[in-house]
Amino acid sequence: MHTQLTTRSKLFCGCSTHYQDSEPNTHTCPICLGLPGSLPVVNEMAIVYAERVAKALNCSVQQTQFYRKNYYYPDLPKGFQISQYDFPLGVNGYLTVESAGRERKIRIRRVHLEEDPGKLTYRGTIEKAQYSLIDYNRSGVPLLEVVTEPDLHAPKEARRFLNKLRNILEYLDVFDGNLEGSLRVDANISIAGGQRAEVKNISSYKGVEKALLFEISRQRNLLRRGIHIAQETRHFDEARGITISLRSKEQEHDYRYFPEPDLVPIDPAPIAELFREEAEIELPDAKRQRFVTQYRISDYLAKVLTASKPLADYFETVAAQVDPAAAASWVVDVLQGELNYRGLRLDSFEPQFLIDVITRVTDGTITEKAGIEVIRTVLDQSCAGVKVSSVPSGVASAGSVKVIIEEKALQAAPIEQITAAAKQAIDENPQAVEDYRSGKKGALNFLVGQVMKKTRGRADPALTNRLIREQL
Ligand SMILES: [Zn+2]
Repeated sequence: MHTQLTTRSKLFCGCSTHYQDSEPNTHTCPICLGLPGSLPVVNEMAIVYAERVAKALNCSVQQTQFYRKNYYYPDLPKGFQISQYDFPLGVNGYLTVESAGRERKIRIRRVHLEEDPGKLTYRGTIEKAQYSLIDYNRSGVPLLEVVTEPDLHAPKEARRFLNKLRNILEYLDVFDGNLEGSLRVDANISIAGGQRAEVKNISSYKGVEKALLFEISRQRNLLRRGIHIAQETRHFDEARGITISLRSKEQEHDYRYFPEPDLVPIDPAPIAELFREEAEIELPDAKRQRFVTQYRISDYLAKVLTASKPLADYFETVAAQVDPAAAASWVVDVLQGELNYRGLRLDSFEPQFLIDVITRVTDGTITEKAGIEVIRTVLDQSCAGVKVSSVPSGVASAGSVKVIIEEKALQAAPIEQITAAAKQAIDENPQAVEDYRSGKKGALNFLVGQVMKKTRGRADPALTNRLIREQL
């Protein structure tokens, strides 16, 4: 797996890595264009970030040396890529993933740094393009390569592994999954009796799972017909959901690796020490365990909440102000669903807003249903620009919840009003009362429904239920 590290500048020059909104070929200099006579200097933060990842993946961190990996391709202006070969920065690590209800250890062979090549854009499809365009803004951005041992046994397992790895990278603050092309996977797969195929440059986890599933059936079909499966490199066509042969696989010696003579060997440990965070970074598994013990929430909720760092931080902000169990269930059961439904991100709903909603539900000002309605109102405004209250969209100030409750008349009905409505419902529906007394199940629900109608849905269902039963 290749991932771009979020350093501010490139791996061997001072060009900015924030090129995403820039014109092509504007973030370049003689070094990342590979002009003759230019010399690379290592970006120390890239070493620090790579060391952080290697340690989080339980690798041994060792002295490393950059190598030249020689090959010709238009996205590589020097004619070689500076990478690590014999002495990668991290070796012999592992990551555990849950598979079929148990933990499996996936061994990590190596973690190393290299430079990203430029970006090629094909006119039309990769097979039929007459020419391609090249943008060197990406050339020289630090790439971290993580290589596993062949320990993954199913496409779904590969996807789980990648999800967990991505989660860790986010926790370490070295990766931004929202950037285009920030993560690319080369998935190698073989089945018994054949050589392995490498599917290059898959840019999503779903894509990896799909490409692997396709390869399994393609390779099985070949074997069944007695055709030899040759080692080769393939391309995944995301739109069609199939893989296409690109070229027969180069052997490693084709790259003529040799140590980069312009760069000295590097010992990452003392460099990383200079930038060591004061507090140890808490990784997902540790955070999940802490959530269970500190907040007394279920392992399931803790797992969902720690699946992304922003979500975990969000929950902790809310849980500091209200009952943690309520906070967990509102974040996971309500907010996440409402956000996903609208394709919105977490930052479109400030924690203070959710705290206000939960507080008002807890103190009985509004019902749970009304609380959900308040959340929906705000989210509808921010996603469609629809004006449904006088609260400005995107502004979730402390007073907003109060304004929406008043404007939409969402206040919970007072107990006197529910009692009166219950009495009315009982008087008006003698048949239901009789059914209730003879033990028919739906009768009580019917009466609760009548009270809901009379109070325009503002009665708390549990309270209504109790008041009706008392009167009966
Ligand atoms: Zn540059």
